[in-house]
Amino acid sequence: IQVNLKKHVPEGPVTEDAFDIVQVPAPKPEDLKDGEVLLRAIYVSVDPYMRSRFINKPGYLLGPFQIGQPIESGTVAVILASKSSKYKEGDIVQGLLPWVEVLARDPKGLNHVQKDAGFPWSYYLGACGMPGLTAYAGLDKIAEPKKGEVALVSAAAGAVGQLVCQILKNVRGVKVIGIAGGSHKIDFLKKEIHVDSTIDYKSESLAKKIAEEAPEGLDIYWDNVGGETLELALRYSRPHMRIPVCGMISQYDLSEQEQAPLRGATRIVWNRIRIQGFIVGDLWAEYYDRFQKDMPEWIRQGKIKVVEDLVKGGLRNAPKAFIGMMKGDNLGKRVVEVTSG
Ligand code: NDP
Repeated sequence: IQVNLKKHVPEGPVTEDAFDIVQVPAPKPEDLKDGEVLLRAIYVSVDPYMRSRFINKPGYLLGPFQIGQPIESGTVAVILASKSSKYKEGDIVQGLLPWVEVLARDPKGLNHVQKDAGFPWSYYLGACGMPGLTAYAGLDKIAEPKKGEVALVSAAAGAVGQLVCQILKNVRGVKVIGIAGGSHKIDFLKKEIHVDSTIDYKSESLAKKIAEEAPEGLDIYWDNVGGETLELALRYSRPHMRIPVCGMISQYDLSEQEQAPLRGATRIVWNRIRIQGFIVGDLWAEYYDRFQKDMPEWIRQGKIKVVEDLVKGGLRNAPKAFIGMMKGDNLGKRVVEVTSG
């Protein structure tokens, strides 16, 4: 099967009627042209940045998904057959691929996955892939954490957030306050990730809890959500606070008129705050080699614990998996298992 875009979604949550699941004949090894490989998807990723590709306007990266064409995302796949000198049958690769179970294509843009890394290949879509590099490079480049500082992290139980919390705490010695929605996520942050304190933004007052947990203010705010949380982080800033603006998921489904005003922004001046947005792609060349060495090592040493949210049931469950992740159903990095390797 393959999963196509049925209609664009300019605002509001993406719903299942935006997708079309269609039966397509699987290509065969004998169909391969010179240089091509035959791939079978093992895991596909669902990520918040994909929301922007459901809007039919040029986005900040990649273009909009096209009606009648497959959705694309980060994928781990096995090579079933190869007419390329760089790949052989049985190799595991990852890259941006269409949501198609089996496909024949030029392998340009694909990278090999280390088969015996000591953890599941799906980690190359999470902790050891794009979300991991986002946490690793964003912290180093923009947050510049120092031992003893106080950091607030939003969407802390998610793919990027759980890594940000652990790098800050276990590698950099920073006090971490993690924000997440719901008691099971708060339990996870306390018991599995061992952050210093937590805020359940769905049942507690963010303003009250930030004031209690950071009485002297915040040195770092890792922004995954934007909106009211960014506004409050500014209000509780200390001089020279740094804010890596990673994402603003609370705003992605809103129309431009609905996007929240930022009253705390006056503090940017008073507190000489450095706020910096970033796109992980810009930091790839500078950080990828270091990251590839450090992150798998931190995982093997137990410095970083990885929690995945694996959705079973194949590619036909990928639309539901994406929609649910955007609402917060996931704990840790959500990945769809297409076939078992
Ligand atoms: P997550 O695994 O964190 O999943 C998304 C989470 O966002 C949900 O689980 C939910 O957690 C939270 N969320 C959803 N809606 C809201 C809302 N209205 N208000 C507050 N929180 C909400 O996804 P990722 O770790 O992959 O991505 C996290 C952020 O990082 C996103 O904003 C994403 O766009 C950004 N990003 C940016 C990159 C870059 O290059 N700049 C690269 C990768 C990611 P909860 O239940 O706790 O609310």
